Amino acid sequence: MESIRAESIIKKFGAVTALDGVSLEVRAGELFFLLGSSGCGKTTLLRSIAGLETPTSGSIHFGDKDVTQLPPHKREAAMVFQSYALWPHLTVGKNVAFGLEERKVPKAEIEERVKQALQLVHLGAMIDRGVDQLSGGQQQRVALARALVVRPRCLLLDEPLSNLDAKLRIEMRREIRRIVKEGGLTAIYVTHDQEEALEMADRMAVLNAGRIEQLGTPEEVYRSPLTPFVAGFIGETNLIKGRIQEVRDAFAMVETAAGPVVGRLVTHDDDPAKANDEVVLSVRPEAWYIDGDGGNSVEGVVRDRSYLGKTIRYTVETAVGAQQVIQLNPEMLLTPGEGRVKLTARHGDVVVMK
Ligand code: ADP
Ligand code: MG
Repeated sequence: MESIRAESIIKKFGAVTALDGVSLEVRAGELFFLLGSSGCGKTTLLRSIAGLETPTSGSIHFGDKDVTQLPPHKREAAMVFQSYALWPHLTVGKNVAFGLEERKVPKAEIEERVKQALQLVHLGAMIDRGVDQLSGGQQQRVALARALVVRPRCLLLDEPLSNLDAKLRIEMRREIRRIVKEGGLTAIYVTHDQEEALEMADRMAVLNAGRIEQLGTPEEVYRSPLTPFVAGFIGETNLIKGRIQEVRDAFAMVETAAGPVVGRLVTHDDDPAKANDEVVLSVRPEAWYIDGDGGNSVEGVVRDRSYLGKTIRYTVETAVGAQQVIQLNPEMLLTPGEGRVKLTARHGDVVVMK
């Protein structure tokens, strides 16, 4: 178990800047996520940490050691890919043993460690099966066991669940988290799936165009997004434009097309918000109540309704645009087009971003 630090990583491929000054520290024993849409640089950052890419500038540290110039096998980081890259003609046991045989580990020790690794991924009984007889989820477990058996200093996972169907993907989220925690591993997990990151991560970095937009726990990133990009990428949100009238402690009164709205400031310390700043408000669909008694209120007309079982979703037309509203346990259903409603939101549930 070891901490991993990336410092000011820039990586250029010809004219393309894949990473544009990325710094982060993953704590020992942490399950850390790199989250972002396709092409934002996630794989490049993971491959730089593994030693499969050399950064144009910047450095990578494992614990106290600068590993920037070390080749992949000397870093002892194990990587798991979206395509499992297993040997189809070998048994489960042989696939997992492969890396240890290459390292000339004694035979008895190989047997013991393969057994342990397969037990950890709950495949102990499958040791003599051919991998071509396994399901997709089982093959993913073999790929994990093969990575773990070499006792890596860290585990790097690049979209490891993308090839599985939706139900299995959700099951495997819990499995991978359990395996990482039981194994006491430091792990970095790359995904474009924000739900996967929210559910599994200890902390996460949200990447956009080769830069980190925000780094924090799932709760911090969801509750207090620093930018409109992060607010919209992690979960769903309503974005409303406005201008600050007045700042009081951690809150701001913001003038919007629907009148004044009070929200919680999340601006960076080095750039405090002040009167007349143009800002964007983020209100989650579940933060809007219909005819509630939250401190803010905005009038509107229900345009659309979808029944989703445990929740109801409305689209409400207001002076600040169409708002998505999600209600849990609604007492009554509203009919689109009938009468005006008042949307309300608590001050703390409205986020003010610069
Ligand atoms: P992600 O994993 O987030 O989808 P990548 O790290 O794969 O993103 O890619 C980031 C950017 O770098 C993209 O614009 C991609 O086209 C480019 N890129 C990645 N690898 C190479 C390469 N070997 N040669 C040229 N461009 C690359
Ligand atoms: Mg990728």
